[in-house]
Amino acid sequence: MEGVIDRPLVVVSNRLPTAITVDDDGSITLRDTVGGLATALSGARERLRFTWVGWPGPLDAPGAEAALRDAGYEPVHVPAHLEDPYYNGMCNAVIWPLFHYFLGRVASNTAYFPAYAEVNAAFAQAVAKAAPPGAHVWIHDYHLMLLPALLRALRPDVRISFFLHVPFPSSEVYRILPARTELLRGLLGADYIGFHTGDYTRHFRSSCLRVLGLESGFDFVSYEGRRVGLGVHPIGADVQRLRNALRSPTCVTRLAELRTHWRGRRVLLGVERLDYSKAIPLKLAAYEEFLRRDPQRAVDNVLVQVVVPSRLDTDEYRDLKNEIELMVGRINGSYGVPGSTPIEYLHRGFDIDELAALYRVADVGVVIPARDGMNLVAHEYVLCQS
Ligand code: UDP
Repeated sequence: MEGVIDRPLVVVSNRLPTAITVDDDGSITLRDTVGGLATALSGARERLRFTWVGWPGPLDAPGAEAALRDAGYEPVHVPAHLEDPYYNGMCNAVIWPLFHYFLGRVASNTAYFPAYAEVNAAFAQAVAKAAPPGAHVWIHDYHLMLLPALLRALRPDVRISFFLHVPFPSSEVYRILPARTELLRGLLGADYIGFHTGDYTRHFRSSCLRVLGLESGFDFVSYEGRRVGLGVHPIGADVQRLRNALRSPTCVTRLAELRTHWRGRRVLLGVERLDYSKAIPLKLAAYEEFLRRDPQRAVDNVLVQVVVPSRLDTDEYRDLKNEIELMVGRINGSYGVPGSTPIEYLHRGFDIDELAALYRVADVGVVIPARDGMNLVAHEYVLCQS
């Protein structure tokens, strides 16, 4: 992104990409967490030095805050009473389903938006304090859509970019959102807004027109006397990290074991976070139909389905997990034969070396999200095949 390299850089995201653990002797260890955003920024992290501002989760352990600062992180305090209405509410029960076109799942609760606004204001204060003069502040994702304008009001000297990691929906859908005006004005506080695809940029421009009456050019919107740049920046897989993983001893050993284990069977692989946008029940229903048409296929094929636990503190995601597990049980119960299970279901996350072995051993990558900002798993699967 233009201007990133020549100024001090500050990255902002809802969660910091690190987990804090306290060892028996009281010492603090920080471990990198996995996920689309952390993967997307891993390349930038290797090349650039920056301060990363975000919510670290509970900071109970003495010394945790200092350990984070030493590692280049700046923690933002989200008051406990706002966590649920901000994160589970406005972020994940309003913006997430609406931006993924799941209109029937959008929650209506008048407490959500004020909590979202308050947390975005807390982020604005933290970033305003952490950013050196003239810094470039790079804000990530739908949790922080009010932050660009809030930050601009506090720190007019900084340059602000925003990147949206999820789809920006058609204006027909976007304008259903009660907070449609506030979120657009929040985003337009940025100097530059990046999206994954040209379609998302086009949807954003038509939303600016329909909701705010703003005319735009192909790659900019004029707003309050400023030119807000728009750009398309599809994120991709971290090629070097996968190459290293494929060569790692863990991957090489695991690959040999799995090849022996599944010899003579075609391996279909699904890797998804537990989320309704990933359409895992639909995939299982299609596989069930595939087996119903010819039960011998249950012996000739195996579907390996990784489901990474996510958002399990909400009923909606627990229900989805139950639905998936019922389907897996039913399909394995109906079509399995002794010594051969048609679905191997793995409800946990794998590190990159283990994941690379799965990508490599598979004959078919089965990636069928109903809607996805930019699916990295599909890229990673293809990379590991060659
Ligand atoms: N991933 C991982 N371990 C797993 C499953 C997935 O590290 O067991 C990583 C995967 O390599 C990918 C990311 O999680 O980089 C998922 O990104 P994607 O865009 O496919 O989906 P998201 O979860 O961001 O919606």
